[in-house]
Amino acid sequence: MSRAMPRDAFHESVSHYFNRAASYSKVDEGLIDQVRCCNSAYRMRFPVRKDDGKITVVEAFRAEHSHHRQPTKGGIRFSPHVTMDETIALAALMTYKCAIVGVPFGGAKGAVCIDPSTSSEGFRERVTRRYTAELIRKNFIGPDIDVPAPDYGTGEREMGWIADTYKNMRMNSGDAYACVTGKPLSMHGIPGRRQATGLGVFYGIRACMENAQDMRALGLAPGVAGKRVIVQGLGNVGYHAAWYLQKEGGALITGIIEREGGIFNADGLDVEEVFRHRQAGRTLLNYPGAENVEGGMALLERECEILVPAALENQITAENAPRVQAKIIAEAANGPVDFEAESILRQRGVLMLPDILMNAGGVTVSYFEWLKNRAGVSFDRMISRHEELVKRELIAAIEGMTGLDMPVEKLPRLVHGPSEEELVVAALEQSMVRAYQRVWKCWKERDLPDLRTAAFLLGLELVAESYRHHGIFP
Ligand code: NAD
Repeated sequence: MSRAMPRDAFHESVSHYFNRAASYSKVDEGLIDQVRCCNSAYRMRFPVRKDDGKITVVEAFRAEHSHHRQPTKGGIRFSPHVTMDETIALAALMTYKCAIVGVPFGGAKGAVCIDPSTSSEGFRERVTRRYTAELIRKNFIGPDIDVPAPDYGTGEREMGWIADTYKNMRMNSGDAYACVTGKPLSMHGIPGRRQATGLGVFYGIRACMENAQDMRALGLAPGVAGKRVIVQGLGNVGYHAAWYLQKEGGALITGIIEREGGIFNADGLDVEEVFRHRQAGRTLLNYPGAENVEGGMALLERECEILVPAALENQITAENAPRVQAKIIAEAANGPVDFEAESILRQRGVLMLPDILMNAGGVTVSYFEWLKNRAGVSFDRMISRHEELVKRELIAAIEGMTGLDMPVEKLPRLVHGPSEEELVVAALEQSMVRAYQRVWKCWKERDLPDLRTAAFLLGLELVAESYRHHGIFP
């Protein structure tokens, strides 16, 4: 289980990473301060009726870290332990993340202090709708203002409630559904959003492991195939990252950690079956053929090539970092490695793939969803049939020139126009690979200590650049 951390340890780590990157930058100090600070934050407390009819007061937050681009964008977290400080730090990560993947938004984050695992669906719905109403009241939500998305403890259902509440309270807004992303498909969501963050993590890891020189330095053969992976958190991000690493990458998922403990099998675990096992029995433990690891945290220290923390921040600290045996840590969660642990791990030669790069797939596809909602048309609708016709013409021309017929069974695959999901996934892959290469180039060309410093520096400079052109009144 995770250790209790001082309240602002996560914020401290983010500040440390930002300040270290800033020390390599030539940006004006005042502008660096502007890029660092949180532009606005709203703390609210509101009453909600519990299932027994009694009233409870719920505390919640929304932080808009940077208004250099609008709308601002960032997920909403449901967790009993969340604080304003943590929300602001998460919002800051969103700003740099958006800049790195070329999403034209400022960063934001929301949080509600409830435990989704112990509260009823009815209670969660009342809380979500009331939280949305509070955001509307203070102008902290809207397609051009601030656009939430899912995060830890929330998913499509909560995003659907937010969209519905917003639409009913802003009845004249034509593109009301663009007020939130990660919605169900039936409420103008986009195919591919559900798996986007985890799939993006896979693309990031794959891009990293294709570099033979970097892998040689770690004593590894290039490529994901056959590598042993341990994943912490089998929620949205962890499940999809593990699934793609296994099914598309050919990796061996040897360990999975959840709140109730961990399971380990040196021959590999089937991610889909483990997920079904946990759903059926409400526990990961006692999975056939696997060893139970009490508490789970010890699994972070087992031998593997890739460790994917995909649950919460501050999971790897100075306390357990010396015992971590992974060669690569791919930060699927936000802030899973604190700055003290980072320094230990770097000295031990562990390659860390930073959160602001690795989990940027979520906001990338959220951006596509927002664009679709603004346009009021799905991406495939305007091109799919046209592409099919062009391909048919091309094949007819080739057949005409060669005198050969294309085998009938091959035709459907060759001529079909792309579905919306195919377009989204292809664009996600391109965004993640380009972002990785850009950060990697910055790391090498500017001789920086690591990829995280490069990612923060790139984020800082891109945001500063945008401020230089607009956003500062004379
Ligand atoms: P989620 O709620 O879907 O899943 C989190 C999982 O972690 C749950 O299954 C939970 O039981 C498990 N967990 C909680 N405490 C644990 C512990 N101590 N040990 C092991 N497992 C534990 O949340 P998510 O959306 O998958 O988010 C996970 C992380 O990824 C968070 O840091 C979040 O900020 C980050 N993230 C999420 C998205 C997204 O699109 N959902 C995007 C970017 C970053």
